[in-house]
Amino acid sequence: LQGGRTEKDIPFARAESLTKVIAIASGKGGVGKSSVTVNLAMALAARGQTVGILDADIYGHSVPAMLGIADARPTSVEDMIMPVPVPVEQGNGLKVMSIGMLKPRRDQVVAWRGPILDRALHQMLADVYWGDLDYLLLDLPPGTGDVAISVGQKLPNAEVIVVTTPQQAAAEVAERAGTMASMVNQRVIGVVENMSYLLITCPDCGKQHSYDVFGSGGGDEVATTLGTRLGYDVPVLARIPLDPQLRAGGDTGEPIVGSDPAQPSATAVTGLADSL
Ligand code: ADP
Repeated sequence: LQGGRTEKDIPFARAESLTKVIAIASGKGGVGKSSVTVNLAMALAARGQTVGILDADIYGHSVPAMLGIADARPTSVEDMIMPVPVPVEQGNGLKVMSIGMLKPRRDQVVAWRGPILDRALHQMLADVYWGDLDYLLLDLPPGTGDVAISVGQKLPNAEVIVVTTPQQAAAEVAERAGTMASMVNQRVIGVVENMSYLLITCPDCGKQHSYDVFGSGGGDEVATTLGTRLGYDVPVLARIPLDPQLRAGGDTGEPIVGSDPAQPSATAVTGLADSL
């Protein structure tokens, strides 16, 4: 993906675009932003929506592995890049383009500076043949860096979901990510609290118990603080439990929403999809 040509415009930024663009943001890494992105995409696809994922997380770019297409590379047709389709049995037409796919080798480290990142992002939005999408989900890098600013400039109509864990320290950095989104004029549509609780079935009595492994209140705190700061209602859209199966699904490339949709973690994400 080399530059040098005149930049094409970004179809999603046009006023008449019917694609709902949702950026998934977080204050720090490891809170489950990518897991939420891929499972939400699967839940939307299962509802018959046409969905694309743009994995713009330069540090993580874990989306392809979570969808079982880690080694796939986009092809090109004339001057357009074709995004990688997710195997039909799981993905229902889901398409993916990842910043990690621009590297010749998987283990190569991306150390791009702002202007190059900006250009790569532009190409992934303008030179990729996404087709008619109902939803484009963007997996942003954690924090409030160059990519978040570029996305804000290129897609001012994008909506933002902030992912946090229930922990106080995570909530504070998540608030900064939400504030950043609003500074580039994007609307924060809600908060997802991930790893909210752990359900364990007692081997003796058979009852299910819930444990707050990472404390509690982070999601509500981010929602309330952002609501006050931004001047509109920011709801908690979902609380996703800590679930070893969700983690395993990410590792094997079979997101839980597709492989075991009745699990509480999967139904929480399906509920999130229904709320959009
Ligand atoms: P981020 O994109 O915020 O860096 P990831 O989605 O890559 O975070 O998640 C980090 C790790 O935590 C991954 O191994 C993932 O499978 C795991 N994980 C995320 N959400 C959950 C959850 N609800 N339950 C169990 N493991 C989770």
